[in-house]
Amino acid sequence: MHTIELPYKPEIVIAGGGTAGSAAAIAAARRGHSVLLVEEANALGGVSTTGGVNEWFANLEGLGDIWERLKTELNRYGAQFGRFYNPEYAKIAWQLMAEEAGVNILFHASIVDAEVADEVVTSVRGVAASHFFDCENAVYIDATGEGDLAWLAGAEVMQGHPESGRTLHMSLTFILQDTGSPVTPYLPAGLEPIESQDDLPGLHGGKLLPDGRVYCNMTKVMGHDPTDPVSLSDAERLARRQIARIVHYLQRTRFPTFALCTSGARIGIREGRRVVGDIILSEADITGNLPRDFDDGVTVATCQIDFHSLTRPGHGGWRQRVEPYAIPYRALTVRGLKNLLVAGKCISGDQVAQSSYRMTPTCCAMGHAAGTAAAMAVEAGVPDVRQIDIATLRQALVEDGLVLDPVKHQAFAPELSPDPTKGA
Ligand SMILES: Cc1cc2nc3c(=O)[nH]c(=O)nc-3n(C[C@H](O)[C@H](O)[C@H](O)COP(=O)(O)OP(=O)(O)OC[C@H]3O[C@@H](n4cnc5c(N)ncnc54)[C@H](O)[C@@H]3O)c2cc1C
Repeated sequence: MHTIELPYKPEIVIAGGGTAGSAAAIAAARRGHSVLLVEEANALGGVSTTGGVNEWFANLEGLGDIWERLKTELNRYGAQFGRFYNPEYAKIAWQLMAEEAGVNILFHASIVDAEVADEVVTSVRGVAASHFFDCENAVYIDATGEGDLAWLAGAEVMQGHPESGRTLHMSLTFILQDTGSPVTPYLPAGLEPIESQDDLPGLHGGKLLPDGRVYCNMTKVMGHDPTDPVSLSDAERLARRQIARIVHYLQRTRFPTFALCTSGARIGIREGRRVVGDIILSEADITGNLPRDFDDGVTVATCQIDFHSLTRPGHGGWRQRVEPYAIPYRALTVRGLKNLLVAGKCISGDQVAQSSYRMTPTCCAMGHAAGTAAAMAVEAGVPDVRQIDIATLRQALVEDGLVLDPVKHQAFAPELSPDPTKGA
């Protein structure tokens, strides 16, 4: 086994450089702290970039200056089209923003182990380019999307539907580009042709964007476990087969001059582990008739319940408007662990609540909050992230442009089918 000493002595270590992890790293580093951002891929942004997602779901205002800067940078490239964007530019924007803040980024690096003593994470182990490395004496943030670090540290986790265990389906996104002349659709032997929209495996999208690309979030792999190595690999294979079939269908129907251009670097995981925190944000919390606030609210989520059917192929699902609601700091603190925070889609919530707050803009604001909180824990010299002053944290976030009063946000509910049985 080869082990190396990294050239950093980070006060804050963030596992996962997706939307939440990148925002957390920037928020912490710009307060003057030494921050290490450990990311498996070769770019920041996670599902919203390397995962090939091109779309934001949420009220896009009042989410803080990191989010605002991302939008500004994308606009400078001409790469934001309302709630759609080009993720290649988002990769550049996230990286330059992190570098400007002084974040140490370690790409091609996975967190693979953690040691804990007396409810304190004492060491986190990573591997990059076949070299192991250890990070000690830090405050940690799990922004891996699937709660990898918390799980490795022995935290309690939840996953999937309370009865069936099924998670929201996975999708491998892809892009078509216009060749300017008719293409010859081809379907390899053994793959079943799709003959009508009703046969499509997943969403009926295929969105022609103003930059000429067609964004396809149309594959649907159900009943697979994104935290199980074999099941995850099988999901990738199934999704790739679906892409061949869907492209063949689209070329024969809506896009006869378009060719397959690119696909996500890995299948998109909507829901993996949900880490148990000091509170579990629930369906009941988010479905009241009035905006829901908490004294320790650090982010406001606005997206509809976006619960794709767990068992049926095609477009169906449960989509219900929710009033804007606060995400409490206690959903970011991990039950039984003192120096670990969690941010992004893997925070503490039930499956229905997660289907709403998992959206990219909300994950950015959560990361912003977690990074600021971790920095404040370092500044205060407290061993437990619960010991920071919540009013001061909230004040810092407000000064950074986060609007923490749910009443001041707009609900985001573009498509509705408010029947919970449709999510079954
Ligand atoms: C197909 C699909 C379509 C979607 N459509 C929309 C949409 O239209 N609008 C919207 O707002 N949201 C959408 N979402 C949801 C949204 O994109 C994600 O939930 C959100 O981006 C998650 O952000 P995150 O930072 O929590 O996690 P992620 O983006 O998953 O980031 C986690 C990062 O951690 C890294 N990582 C994982 N494990 C490790 C490890 N052990 N060590 C080191 N690094 C690790 C990963 O490589 C990744 O970069 C969609 C999701 C999917 C899957």
